[in-house]
This record gives sequence, structure tokens and C-alpha cells, in this order.
Amino acid sequence: MAEKRDYYEVLGVDKNASEKDIKKAYRKLAMKYHPDVSEEEGAEEKFKEVSEAYAVLSDDEKRQRYDQFGHAGMDGFSAEDFYQNVNFEDIFQGFDIGNIFDMFGFGGGSNRRGRQAGPQRGSDIYTEVKITLEEAFNGVEKEVKIRRSKICPTCNGNKSKPGVEPKTCPTCNGTGQVKQVSNTILGQMMNVRPCRDCGGTGKIITDPCEECHGKGNVRESKTIKIEIPAGVDEGDRLRVSGEGNCGDQPGYEGDLIASVHISRNKEFQREGDHLYYEQQISFPQAALGDVIQIPTIEGKTVEFKVTPGTQSGTVFKLKDQGMTSVRHKGRGNLYVTVKVVVPKKLNHKQKKLLKEFDEISGNEIHHVEKGLFDKVKEVINS
Ligand SMILES: [Zn+2]
Ligand SMILES: [Zn+2]
Repeated sequence: MAEKRDYYEVLGVDKNASEKDIKKAYRKLAMKYHPDVSEEEGAEEKFKEVSEAYAVLSDDEKRQRYDQFGHAGMDGFSAEDFYQNVNFEDIFQGFDIGNIFDMFGFGGGSNRRGRQAGPQRGSDIYTEVKITLEEAFNGVEKEVKIRRSKICPTCNGNKSKPGVEPKTCPTCNGTGQVKQVSNTILGQMMNVRPCRDCGGTGKIITDPCEECHGKGNVRESKTIKIEIPAGVDEGDRLRVSGEGNCGDQPGYEGDLIASVHISRNKEFQREGDHLYYEQQISFPQAALGDVIQIPTIEGKTVEFKVTPGTQSGTVFKLKDQGMTSVRHKGRGNLYVTVKVVVPKKLNHKQKKLLKEFDEISGNEIHHVEKGLFDKVKEVINS
């Protein structure tokens, strides 16, 4: 077996890393290598490696032991011991956990979903679908590429070579469970554990299927169309039923769950069903009033009358010019903030007219000596 890498090195954090840094590093790597999303060679192995490192470094007691004794200090921990304090739900926020437990080789996350009798449903797959704000407004159909497991077409999920029947497990006599007596300071304790020899199935595969290596399922890449309804918002989740990982029988597939990510729009900001837009106008437009064109999310424009004497920062509402809504009927509003722009450069005539304007208004402008600003700039830049 290859020598184990240092846990800190695996997560790319230093020895004094805080709990928060460790969690952050793990989350990033776990998302990268999660076998449901990663196309990388050896992703599952990498995923296990970073998960183990995290399990140890996120647990004060284990981390202390590891710091003191290195990997040797971890001898004697079972997979269950390793992960007992890890809150995967918190880390993955939606990634299927049963699947993760299966990968670590201690079956079904018994505390979570339990091993019921009957067929097991496949786990859900989580993905992200990126759209523009315009697409969110209109609704759109998008394709996403996923990797998922499907029932092995060669053995139909039976795990054995076609034509070969699995043997009854001699260790557990086909029950899938073994009783174990252990001596503790409190006396003898009886534990019932899933049989390790058959993985709790009661059967031993003597001649594994060559295509799936006795797993009963194989991985495939698949492109799936997702119907995105008009009005979706950032973080909304769309469920495509039956496109997740396979269960142990046909018809027990998990779902594909796509969370919507809307890219930033240069013109509009969105809050719920409403849109926000900033319209720049000139001082004369603000003072005298004007009719201006405001762009809309549909790619059209609507006319708007700026009333004479409009102040910078005034917000006006264009009713029903906002987003479509998946939750309510109708549309949100478009709120336009007016920004009066002061020109940065003026020519001679403009300056003269402005001074004249100011004089008529009864104000007195203190003459700013040319070159003063340059001097200030010099000071700032020196
Ligand atoms: Zn097979
Ligand atoms: Zn067995």
C-alpha cells in the first residue's frame, strides 16, 4: 500500500489551521472530487483521502492524537470511529450522504436512512445550472452533463457473471448479520453488526461480473435537459425525477437536483420579483424635465417622463416591468433610481454659461485656481 500522505498536506492547510480553515479547505476539495460531479481520474480515491483527513483534523481529540503520533495514532479506529463526529450534512448541504457512507465502506449511513427491507432507492445527484437574468425572465431549457451510476447492463445488477448464482455467505448463513461479544469494563456486550464478508447481503459473489466488477452498477456520463420555468431565482432547486443514481432495482433511481445560478446582469439588479435600474440624466434634464427611454428586461424600452426639478437619487416605479414570478401571478416592478451626472469636463462656452446661470441664481462661485488640483494630486501620488 502506498504510504499515507500527511493530513494537513492533503487538505492544503498548515499545522495551526483553525477549525474554520480546515472546514473550508475540505469543503472545496470534497466538492471538487465528489464522484457525482468529478470527471477526474481517481476522484473517488481522492474524495476518500480528503474526507479521512477532514474527519481527523476536525475532531479535537483525533487531531491531538494525530499531531502527537502521526498516522500510527490512528491505528485501531474503524471507519465508523473515523467519521462519527463529522457532520456531513452541514458540509455538503444537499449532497447525498448515504452515498458517501457507502463509499467509506460501512453501509447505508444507518443512523440516517436505515437499512429497510426491500429495494434501496438510488441517491440524488446535485448539480448547478447557470443562466442569465434574461433567461430567468423568459424561462429556458438547459442541458447539464452529469455522471451517475446505472444498473450494470451485463449482469442486470446481480453482480455475478451471467449464469452464475451467488453463494450463501457461510459466515452469517445468509442472514447478513453477525453477533459479536466484546468484553468491556461494564461486562460483556453483545453487538449485532452487518456481516463483513458479504457486506450484509447474505450472499457471496464467487464469479463477479466483469463489466461492473461485482458492484452491480456502472458509471455513465449523461446529458440531461432541464426545463427552467420563467421567474426562477438564484438558488432555486429544480428536481428532475429519476435522473439520479440507480437503486438496486430498475425504477428506484434517485433524482437529479439542479440549483439555479443566475449570472450578474450589467443593467438590472434583482430582488425577488422586482428589478432595479440606475438611469443617469444630465443636470438640464433633471432641472427642465425630459422624456427618456428606460430599458426593460424584455429588451424593449418604455417611455418615462422626468418631471422638472427631479433630484438625484429619486426612485420611480414602473409597475409590472419587473421579473416574471414563479410564485405569484403577474410581474414585479422596475424601480429606477435617477442619478444626476455632473460633467467631468467642460469647454469654454459651457463654463461661461454655467457661471452666468449661477450669477443669475444669485450665487457666487469662488474661483478655483488652475493647477491647484494638480498640486494636490502630486502630494497624494508622492
Ligand atoms: Zn455487472
Ligand atoms: Zn455474510
